[in-house]
Amino acid sequence: MPRLVMKFGGTSVANVERIKNVARHVKREVEAGFDVAVVVSAMSGKTNELVAWCKEAAPLHDQREYDAVVASGEQVTTGLLAIALQEIGIPARSWQGWQVPVETDAAHGAARITGIGGAGILQGFEEHREVAVVAGFQGIHLPTGRLTTLGRGGADTSAVAVAAGLHADRCDIYTDVDGVYTTDPRIVPKAQRLDRVSFEEMLELASAGAKVLQVRSVEVAMVHNVRTFVRSSFDDPNNPKPGTLICGEEEIVESQVVTGIAYSKDEAQITLRNVPDKPGVAAAVFAPLADANVVVDMIVQNISPDGKTTDITFTVPSADYTRAMAVLAKQKDTIGYPSIEGAQDVAKVSAIGVGMRSHAGVAAKAFKALADRGINIRAITTSEIKFSVLIDQAYTELAVRTLHSLYGLDAA
Ligand code: ASP
Ligand code: MG
Repeated sequence: MPRLVMKFGGTSVANVERIKNVARHVKREVEAGFDVAVVVSAMSGKTNELVAWCKEAAPLHDQREYDAVVASGEQVTTGLLAIALQEIGIPARSWQGWQVPVETDAAHGAARITGIGGAGILQGFEEHREVAVVAGFQGIHLPTGRLTTLGRGGADTSAVAVAAGLHADRCDIYTDVDGVYTTDPRIVPKAQRLDRVSFEEMLELASAGAKVLQVRSVEVAMVHNVRTFVRSSFDDPNNPKPGTLICGEEEIVESQVVTGIAYSKDEAQITLRNVPDKPGVAAAVFAPLADANVVVDMIVQNISPDGKTTDITFTVPSADYTRAMAVLAKQKDTIGYPSIEGAQDVAKVSAIGVGMRSHAGVAAKAFKALADRGINIRAITTSEIKFSVLIDQAYTELAVRTLHSLYGLDAA
């Protein structure tokens, strides 16, 4: 039998009525001849509530116990969906992360999957065509026997990893939108659903702020070449639309120069003025930040006019801004900068497309269009298939709309 992994996020299992609807989607695929593993999230809002309880109990708490608490949301939905499936005549059972087992490292609260067992699931397929309802987001660190969780949004990653582990033919990620769009349709009503997008582009889109999939899940899909569909659980279970296929570049026939525009308001900018222009300074700035687990994104450093000092500008996630400033304050004398400036009202807007590899001047066109609208660019970074600009947050929507039309992505 061909194998399918289906994943349903929080809004798709928000209440028992919605869980019954999920059961109908699963039934359709079982009847189509698939052996199915369903990966579920907690009911929407549940994980937030559990996280808040941990913080209330103690602002700085034991991460292992945090995992014990927050993993419980998914346990509830696995049992409920198994019951709903049995109720409509589909053999099913629940699997917690530790039962599969979904093996992870010991990074509690943000664990990475290191392996998928799954022998029991396969046995259930063979013996009774039993649907496996797997708890997303959770795993086990086998050496200590402790429960772990994968970080917020981690159920997407669970699904793709289970698909890879079971050698599934496909992984369908059901969510509250019917696919991946050229940009956020709330900002650009003319945004279009993409039929296909390459792993690499999806990875860049997700990293640049598109919220449809967890970044890590796309990495896992790319590494294991898992054909992944993003589709809607709100479609009629008897007549669903296919959604967007995330796949290898070789499966994409026609491609635009730019495939999508993403944005992120969760950025903060830090500028160090007049740092000495000598070897080792960049290391003195960025090594302590890395040690403090602050992920630095854009970095701009000027050539100094006088060969003595220069400015370094970079961005960090807003959530890490205060921590980053504290780390840098401690290093003030070691680095030797006279002044530091920070800005939190910034946003990063990115354009992504594999076509950039073979087309010149793609970014230059954007700089002109943004300038024509009076949008000042604070920093720029480029990669082979992406460029990003850092701008004042107030202009985010205008910039996204401008780039979306500039690259011909508006629906007719
Ligand atoms: N329930 C978890 C969260 O809200 C995992 C997930 O839904 O992906 O982060
Ligand atoms: Mg999610």
